[in-house]
Amino acid sequence: MATNAGNLNQRTRCTYFYDVHMPCNKRQPGSGCGALKGINRNHAIFGWSEKCVAVYPSDMAVALSALDAIVHVQGTNKEARVIRFADFHRLPDNNPEIDNNLKHGELITSIELPENDLAEHSYYLKIRERSSYAFALVSVAAAMSLDGNRIKDVRIALGGVAHKPWRATVARRY
Ligand code: SF4
Repeated sequence: MATNAGNLNQRTRCTYFYDVHMPCNKRQPGSGCGALKGINRNHAIFGWSEKCVAVYPSDMAVALSALDAIVHVQGTNKEARVIRFADFHRLPDNNPEIDNNLKHGELITSIELPENDLAEHSYYLKIRERSSYAFALVSVAAAMSLDGNRIKDVRIALGGVAHKPWRATVARRY
């Protein structure tokens, strides 16, 4: 059993995170990063820092990123606010122990998908090392909307390559 909010809140971490004999800034801030000189096949290409090179594991979030989802949250004082999906997860910078921009005590109440006409021409491709129960080595959520033969909009998001779902914004311009 799981929830969509729980899926979004998966920690961005690497295998060294689980090894308590190795340093890990995410597990213990300031201790160092065991992955920096480790086996790097699964580590970030984009959006990493000297403090952490782990990649974000969710597939669903990559698709939500491409769809410009909006996350609705509620604080302990019942005050509601919305977070654009692009702003929900954080890059590591100097504080990799903080994975997202939820404030202490905030609860995700819903995830909104703005109306779009992308579904007809969309695809999610995931490359992984095992056929099941494996995070993506790399994944791509791609979608476009057409007006006849003319492309109106293109969305491309990458998974398994960065500290958060990674929008290919430059590719979109071309
Ligand atoms: S990459 Fe991040 S999660 Fe992995 S050991 Fe380094 S600090 Fe920890």
